Amino acid sequence: MPKVLIAGAGLVGALNACYFAQKGWDVEVYEFRPDIRKMEHVPGRSINLALSDRGKAALEGVGLKEYIVQQGVPLYGRLVHDKDGKTFHRIPYGQPGQHIVSINRRHLNEVMITLAEKSPNVRFFFEHKVKSVNVEKQELTVICDGIELTQKAELILGCDGAYSAVRRSLAAYPRFDFAQEYIEHGYVELNILPKNKDFALEPNAFHLWPRGDYTMIALANRDHTFTVTIFAPFRVFEEQMSNDSDIIKFFEENFHDALELMGRAHVLETFHRVRPQSLVSIKCKPHHFGKSVLLTGDAAHAMVPFYGQGMNCGFEDCLVLSEIIDQHANDIPKALRVYSETRVKDAHNIIDLAMYNYEELKDLVNHTSYKLRKKLDLI
Ligand code: FAD
Repeated sequence: MPKVLIAGAGLVGALNACYFAQKGWDVEVYEFRPDIRKMEHVPGRSINLALSDRGKAALEGVGLKEYIVQQGVPLYGRLVHDKDGKTFHRIPYGQPGQHIVSINRRHLNEVMITLAEKSPNVRFFFEHKVKSVNVEKQELTVICDGIELTQKAELILGCDGAYSAVRRSLAAYPRFDFAQEYIEHGYVELNILPKNKDFALEPNAFHLWPRGDYTMIALANRDHTFTVTIFAPFRVFEEQMSNDSDIIKFFEENFHDALELMGRAHVLETFHRVRPQSLVSIKCKPHHFGKSVLLTGDAAHAMVPFYGQGMNCGFEDCLVLSEIIDQHANDIPKALRVYSETRVKDAHNIIDLAMYNYEELKDLVNHTSYKLRKKLDLI
């Protein structure tokens, strides 16, 4: 059987491992972090994520859709909170019953690693840092305990995220187009605890506090908490939230109802502990190199999170790749060329849509269409 080396055991690396396990390939996954299943606290981005049909279809391909959807909280539409802290408006996502699902990132990642590992032909190497890839030799070099190891395979997948070491080592490759853009907004994650052992807000909605230049969202978790994320320009964090009284004043003025639920002490403790995180959008072309190297997930197409499609699109990469490999009867060089030809265009389009939704979400209240629908009492 052919062998695949996967750089990164995050969401996309783990799902790719499940797909290749199913095909019976030899699979080796190299992950920089320790095994998250054994960690007390996993640092990193967004505690929960919105899983949409695109992602569900990819999970279905490895038999995980039903289980994962059951583990999440369905969201049927947006609930927009006004500045007065008392009124809100509902915007359904689609027809009655249509919904996205709020999923815990860590749980999802753990379930996929465990599923992949059930196959005897799959091995995960944690605390192994990918250093570089050699396209001509079809080799991946990783470092563990200061020792460099080089592995060779028919296929090498870069699934090592937005700051991909695999992609970095390809940067000098001829005719490789690459563009990255940091938006002026950063984000901070907060928490709403349960109230009387139940959800403090309506759970089955994507809560949104659009305030023009900044915005806040909240998604429910199965343990009755909400993960709250405030997005604002770094200058707003620096100038308008530079000390305790300014932070509280900012939340009182803009997110009064949420502040009451989060509690002032929690907001201050969070702002003392964490710094706003940056958001980057990355386009590159092609996604494949030589006969064996391919970038998937954020390594190929990191996008701003406002369309909720980064993971979903990365999951779709896994499904599309699997189907194309099957269609080309394991002719990897051909399959990678075909994949890159179709997928680059799709990825660039969704990156643009995510950037467009960035404008929409933060400034929803000022949109003519929104005002008109509100006036007509449609929301
Ligand atoms: P990652 O999740 O970044 O995983 C990469 C893995 O590679 C990690 O495990 C990392 O440790 C490992 N790694 C990195 N470097 C190396 C190395 N040198 N060697 C070995 N291993 C390495 N998407 C959605 O679809 N819906 C959402 O609701 C959503 N919300 C989001 C909210 C926020 C605030 C943010 C920032 C993003 C959000 N996203 C969302 C996007 C989503 O998080 C990413 O698209 C997704 O995590 C990409 O998965 P990945 O596996 O490609 O990369």
